[in-house]
Amino acid sequence: MMGGHHAASGAAAWVAVASTAPHAFGWYPVTPLGVVTGALLTAGAALLPDLDHHSGTIAHSLPPITKILARMTETVSGGHRRGTHSLLGLAVFVALATALGRITTDVPVFGSVALGAGILSVLLMGFAFKALKIAGGPARSWFLALAFSAFIAVYAPENNDWLPVAVGLGVAVHIVGDLLTHQGVMILWPLRIKRPRSLVRFPVVSKLWRSSGAFSLPLIGAAGSWREWALMVPVTIYAIFGVTIDGMTALTGWSPYS
Ligand SMILES: [Zn+2]
Repeated sequence: MMGGHHAASGAAAWVAVASTAPHAFGWYPVTPLGVVTGALLTAGAALLPDLDHHSGTIAHSLPPITKILARMTETVSGGHRRGTHSLLGLAVFVALATALGRITTDVPVFGSVALGAGILSVLLMGFAFKALKIAGGPARSWFLALAFSAFIAVYAPENNDWLPVAVGLGVAVHIVGDLLTHQGVMILWPLRIKRPRSLVRFPVVSKLWRSSGAFSLPLIGAAGSWREWALMVPVTIYAIFGVTIDGMTALTGWSPYS
């Protein structure tokens, strides 16, 4: 799946969990501003698994830090679309976010500031702006990432454990997005269960279970296909709509839900 589509699916997942579900079912309610800041962070988290590619788009988002981190991640995770695109990778990202989410500090005027979330979001915002092609050069990327992260740190959702929820959601929708392509993902990494050669005679099996050992549910086929666009245009509209409505509520106090 394309980077911009990963980011949009992350924002949409946060809007669904933190705005639509609370209004519809009363689950996981977040303040209107928390919907906006959480959606930004989840959009970035939905690019985190692609930090496993030293020459990928994400590695070039905030040089030189992201290049160094990408080389390290690629080595630890066994290569592109392996460890970071697995259930184990998801658990590691959630554990890291849980640890960072506990780091807060009191700042005069602003009160409690989510310092750990702010530091993580510098990276994640850098990824999101690069994937959405609004980053420009490295200086502008760093400036935008730092500015938006300060906003996220100050106006972070007040719920406990919102950071691991946002990071977990972002990483999970990324893995699902890549699972929907031909190439698939090694969801059970480090287990690599190679498809027996004899199964190549069954076309459906060989589409779902690749010879590399990756699993795939290739509903969108190749990355960037018309099917990917057909799926992602409504998802993107939903994300933009949700963030805009809650952003308006945060600014004016008026809500269409009440
Ligand atoms: Zn990926």
